[in-house]
Amino acid sequence: MKRFIEQVAIVTGAGSGIGRATALRLAQEGAKVVLADWSEDGLQETVSQLPPETACIERKLDVSDEAGVRALVSEANERFGQIDILINNAGISGGSYPPVTENERADWEQILGVNLIGAMLMIKHVAPHMQERKQGAIVNTASVAGIRSGAGGNPYSASKAGVINLTQTAACDLGGFNIRVNAVCPGLVETGMTKPVFDYARANEKEHKLGGRCELRRYGKPEELAAAICFLASDDASYITGQALPVDGGNTASL
Ligand code: NAD
Repeated sequence: MKRFIEQVAIVTGAGSGIGRATALRLAQEGAKVVLADWSEDGLQETVSQLPPETACIERKLDVSDEAGVRALVSEANERFGQIDILINNAGISGGSYPPVTENERADWEQILGVNLIGAMLMIKHVAPHMQERKQGAIVNTASVAGIRSGAGGNPYSASKAGVINLTQTAACDLGGFNIRVNAVCPGLVETGMTKPVFDYARANEKEHKLGGRCELRRYGKPEELAAAICFLASDDASYITGQALPVDGGNTASL
């Protein structure tokens, strides 16, 4: 299957986990890729796994820095002449989940800054290039935590609920330009972000419990998210916009 030949895709958070798997899948299906991540080592690892013929730009970027976002998007458009796909995937969790009475304003600002404002900034600067050509597909990585909160009023859940809402708003604003905007809501997936959870479970012989609350009784793989993201980015999803698709082994099915 080669759904993205001659298409140009920007992927944020491409240096690890779901972003890396998505960048590799896009490239395997023929896309030219623009890979952005805060981690230069992560980017280099992703680049080393690309099919050899892949046209690629990789850049260190903090998605919450508007000047950096503007520069990356300009460079991508100048180099490749178009931007067809944006995968808005960079994210941080903050690591701990204290109750709302113990929340720190700085933590909220940092997490909302990357997960929500960063996603908005990427759309703000990419969409005008898509509007000119009257085509484009944007896929945001939200979370099942954006559908229903975990324990405590933590900023991660709020940021991901915001990403789902941003997805709907952007779909409304951009639909008239033939630009589709959707989100995926991953359940538990083994990546850099969740490494401490997996390390703890394995050290305590509790790995079998991970994903136990999913109807499929297992956790997810980055490649399974990449498959769903690439579906939403492709013409196979040509009549789908403004949606947030749980990719969670059925975790939210019994809510
Ligand atoms: P990951 O930590 O493996 O990958 C996230 C990547 O984003 C990293 O390479 C990191 O360097 C990059 N990043 C972080 N802050 C950045 C910034 N400010 N600018 C640019 N890059 C930045 O984790 P992952 O699980 O692959 O996460 C991808 C997305 O999936 C995130 O948005 C995350 O919230 C979401 N998600 C993950 C899970 C899960 O179980 N792993 C569940 C739900 C949602």
